[in-house]
Amino acid sequence: MKTIYFDNNATTKVADEVFEEIKPYFCELYGNPSSMHTFGGQIGIKIRTAREKTAALLGCDPSEIIFTGCGTESDNAAINGTLAAYPNKRKIITSCVEHPAVLSVCRELASHGYTVVELKVDKKGRLDMAELEKQIDDNTALVTIMYANNETGVIFPIEKIAELTKGKGTVFHTDAVQAIGKIPLNLSKSNIDLLSISGHKLHAPKGVGVLYIKKGTRLSPYMIGGHQEAGRRAGTENVPGIVGLGKACELAAKNIEEENQKVKYLRDKLENAILEKCPQCRLNGDKNDRLPNTSNISFEYIEGEAILLMLDKFGICASSGSACTSGSLEPSHVLRAMGVPFTAAHGSIRFSLSRYNTEKEVDYTIEKMPEIVNKLRELSPFVTK
Ligand code: PLP
Repeated sequence: MKTIYFDNNATTKVADEVFEEIKPYFCELYGNPSSMHTFGGQIGIKIRTAREKTAALLGCDPSEIIFTGCGTESDNAAINGTLAAYPNKRKIITSCVEHPAVLSVCRELASHGYTVVELKVDKKGRLDMAELEKQIDDNTALVTIMYANNETGVIFPIEKIAELTKGKGTVFHTDAVQAIGKIPLNLSKSNIDLLSISGHKLHAPKGVGVLYIKKGTRLSPYMIGGHQEAGRRAGTENVPGIVGLGKACELAAKNIEEENQKVKYLRDKLENAILEKCPQCRLNGDKNDRLPNTSNISFEYIEGEAILLMLDKFGICASSGSACTSGSLEPSHVLRAMGVPFTAAHGSIRFSLSRYNTEKEVDYTIEKMPEIVNKLRELSPFVTK
């Protein structure tokens, strides 16, 4: 049975072109780019090329990019590095639907005396912009708001937020881990100061990320050691990861519009058919301002995990909004913040597609979903028969 992979917001397949490109860097071109000899030194050139390709996708200067170990590291570096650079400012503004790579860091800082404002969202997952504007004051070191939500795909008005923070003495960081490769970016024309991305969401390998640092942005280094990444992120470079990310960015830049169209067509076909064929289900998040690949659907009165297990039997991978906390299933903080009722939040499934999905896979899933939902509803103690 072939796997049908609809969990691309969790991680993606490494593109064949990327895999081919990185192979020599394990056993042939394994030198340390910091070495004086030619064998190592030549690797520095490959890193430079990867930096240029990544910068081209982001629309920024290569010198504004540092390579990190993952999206989580980029987020941590942005938050902690900003606070260290502005020691007299003690306030952070974020949203209540951020990924834990941001939200948990902010909550940890709150326990150390920082004022942390978690902006609310409405029923469609949209941000309260008026509240954001009201909250920015002289004490605000950082506004950190995600570009697109990993669970619902809802896109926030990042350029408007960047505009709002401009000239207020506040650094603006966005976690663009889910946006990269799905939304065209041009940072040269943007007021975004810091931006995080992660390789493995973009058909590059795991273990590599990027932090974009706009020229002139004050940021204290967070990993201290060697002189790598111009002293802004110490540690011997993950050469295969960086080369792979460069290639993945090149592919994304070349094909972004065409792929988005294809992926959106498949996502819409899947979503519309499920909403039509399965009773008592609802779409979570704004239907329009949304990533083209993501669909988050709640199935009332059944457990998301039960749906996942049954999908798994048919070789279909998706994910649910619940997280296992202390042995019990907690509905997602994102859906709760959007006011999704408990019975629906528990039964939520996220389908996230990529360029590698096919119409045949979508049709097969459309065929199986009503069967699964009806079976589970028959077993549900919450459904009156
Ligand atoms: N931010 C968002 C929005 C994410 O979706 C993820 C991963 O799912 C991360 C950050 C963390 O990225 P990484 O897995 O590269 O640490």
